[in-house]
Amino acid sequence: MTPDYLICLECESPCYIFEWADEKVKEATCTVCGNDEIESFATEDEYEALTGDDRFSRSR
Ligand SMILES: [Zn+2]
Repeated sequence: MTPDYLICLECESPCYIFEWADEKVKEATCTVCGNDEIESFATEDEYEALTGDDRFSRSR
């Protein structure tokens, strides 16, 4: 399933210009910061996993 957008991990902006194949990103370019390293993009799900609320609510 192709995500609607990827999130650029460099500037945390949604990125709509990308190529998706075989369940992962093939090419992506961030129009905000110019990042084009595919390792620096995450899907919405991956981004949530990376920045999940758990990390912040574990203060006890
Ligand atoms: Zn960016």
